[in-house]
Amino acid sequence: MRDTEESINVSALNQFAYCPRRCGLIYLESEFADNLHTARGNAEHARVDRVAHEAVGFGVRVEYALPVWSDRLGLVGKCDVVEFHEDGTIYPVEYKHGARKKRLNDDLQLAAQALCLEEMTGKSVPKGAIFHHTSRRRREVEITETLRRQAEETVAAVRALLISGVLPAPVNDARCKECSLKEICQPEAVAGKFRVHVMRSTLFDPEDECAKS
Ligand code: SF4
Repeated sequence: MRDTEESINVSALNQFAYCPRRCGLIYLESEFADNLHTARGNAEHARVDRVAHEAVGFGVRVEYALPVWSDRLGLVGKCDVVEFHEDGTIYPVEYKHGARKKRLNDDLQLAAQALCLEEMTGKSVPKGAIFHHTSRRRREVEITETLRRQAEETVAAVRALLISGVLPAPVNDARCKECSLKEICQPEAVAGKFRVHVMRSTLFDPEDECAKS
């Protein structure tokens, strides 16, 4: 049983796994700033990418920008590409900019797409791929039991975030360097304010012996 009937976008799982605050800024506060990375990503999604699929053999039907959903999980979204093979294999492919590199946040998004496709078709979706546009290489991803469980846990975490309405604290680490929301998020300033808040509460904590002396 879900806590809310509001559907969660499959791509929110990717954002949350990258940084919960980023997910909150986008889905709670409707902030989205383009930087080089998101601009490239958007351009690549826009021309997904019949060229890359010319290599797919005869007997494969390819659907682009296919809407998907799961009533069980309360998910909606779109698959960049889904291949329907003659032998019944259903194979989602998600396009990402950049070179071939394993990223759990991308794998979780693909797993959520697989869960949606399974519910919609009644067929198993054991594998899919991330197509890395810069290197023009696929990275095949097995939709393991562990990945499925992580995807479902992430759906629950995103739902809890949206219900709470509370923006998470900044991660303030290497992820921020490439984040398109850095200017809006101000991770260093927010982390600085948080440090000051902690110092103040320690200084005036009645249980704190240093504050008493
Ligand atoms: S700048 Fe850092 S903390 Fe802020 S949303 Fe981006 S990754 Fe998260």
